[in-house]
Amino acid sequence: MNRDHRAWAEIDLTAFRHNLSIARHCAGAAEVWPVLKANAYGHGACRMAQICAEEGVERIGVGDSHEALEMREAGVTTPLLVLGTVIDAEVPLLLRHHIEVGIHSESRAHSLGQLVAQHGARLGVHLKIDCGMGRLGVRPEAALRVAQALLNEPALELRGVMTHFPAREGCLNPDTAEHHALFQSVLAELRASGISVPMTHCANSAALFTGLQPLGGAVRPGIALFGVLPDALSAEHNLRPVLSLHTQVVFLKDLPSGAPVGYGGRWVSHRPTRIATLPIGYNDGVPYRLGSEGRGAVLIRGRRCPIVGAISMDYCTIDVGHVPGVDIGDRVTLIGRDGAECLSVAEVAEAAGTIPYEITCSIGARVRRVWCESSTPQQGLKHKHHNPT
Ligand SMILES: *Cc1c(COP(=O)(O)O)cnc(C)c1O
Repeated sequence: MNRDHRAWAEIDLTAFRHNLSIARHCAGAAEVWPVLKANAYGHGACRMAQICAEEGVERIGVGDSHEALEMREAGVTTPLLVLGTVIDAEVPLLLRHHIEVGIHSESRAHSLGQLVAQHGARLGVHLKIDCGMGRLGVRPEAALRVAQALLNEPALELRGVMTHFPAREGCLNPDTAEHHALFQSVLAELRASGISVPMTHCANSAALFTGLQPLGGAVRPGIALFGVLPDALSAEHNLRPVLSLHTQVVFLKDLPSGAPVGYGGRWVSHRPTRIATLPIGYNDGVPYRLGSEGRGAVLIRGRRCPIVGAISMDYCTIDVGHVPGVDIGDRVTLIGRDGAECLSVAEVAEAAGTIPYEITCSIGARVRRVWCESSTPQQGLKHKHHNPT
């Protein structure tokens, strides 16, 4: 399959299922609602949603109604929740496809309630409490008032109460315990006022994998399902990387010492060497900073080669002077394993001065997604298959 695409991302579905089963194990009695926003963190939202549906997940989190619509068009009938907020123009679509949304304010509860009533419909909503994120969500002291306002809207149906933690280190950061306690006290207040709270959910990957308790009715892991843990979390959970990013050599050029390469001529060869051109650039998700700061590398023939010169929109250049036999059509790995060498998402993010999330989310639309099953024991990828129930 290598030669069919200029650049492609291999998505290992076996690894994804494995990670889902680990998350389920970790979640105990709580449901696992995979978060597949931003094209499933770059892994292809529809295909990943189909896999989640096959695995029997109870709900999927998305970023906006368009993402939800694409999943519906791909035949996914699993309940879908827009985690953030929606604009009015999205409402007819939500109703047509039975998509739930978060609610963040009393005025929004009213306006949404009326809009939905005009369509003669009902909308399932999740009340979002801001316990420290400071972004979306109702302040804890207003939670009861907004919950009551929401229950007064006959067109809205309260399906859940949620919060979202800001700490990347999950429970390793003491703030998380504080935010969680605040969430619990809001839930207690709602219940004490006679409000029945159907479902509670708060844990992202970081909170789930650092042992948050109690988890409530459901957890919402995103990045961990793709085998990447946010900062500072250990690898002890045996999550497996899902994505690898590849391209192929399209051009080779021998340069003398002292030759500049790329826009601005900022990199200059300091010995006679061979430069390979790769048909993948910043539009495809190769961070510009990997070139401009000289910290990027790729793998070819099991060897590490530095990215040299500025990353272009469609291309980048690597120094292969130390690797014998490099040829046009050679497979190149930007993320993933090649022989004994490996470039993890975390490592690429670190080199680019960003977070792992941004690396996978930024993989561009031109990069072909190739979904596959890992079954190759020689690569150390053989593992137990999750048994769907
Ligand atoms: C993105 C998101 C998640 C998943 O976060 P991860 O860190 O990827 O696990 C969970 N909940 C909400 C509200 C989100 O926006």
